[in-house]
Amino acid sequence: MLNRLSAKEREHLAKVKALPCSVCDAPGPSEAHHVKQGLQYTCVALCESCHRGDHNGWHGGRAMWRIKKMDEIDALNVTLKRLSAH
Ligand SMILES: [Zn+2]
Ligand SMILES: [Zn+2]
Repeated sequence: MLNRLSAKEREHLAKVKALPCSVCDAPGPSEAHHVKQGLQYTCVALCESCHRGDHNGWHGGRAMWRIKKMDEIDALNVTLKRLSAH
């Protein structure tokens, strides 16, 4: 899938991955979580724990997400806000 990305999409992903975690604010580099697979402009900057952690992660128990009272759209909003501030 990665080889189908345009140069602009790659650039966007690189900027997202440089951000802190959108949920717990852990310093970057972060991972890019895709809200919808294949849509590069809806990806969210997440630390490994908030992304894939068994207990805390979106793809796991989502504990940190509940603590922060956030869903994917809340986190996407944080990612985009930080991108626009750069
Ligand atoms: Zn995090
Ligand atoms: Zn993900």
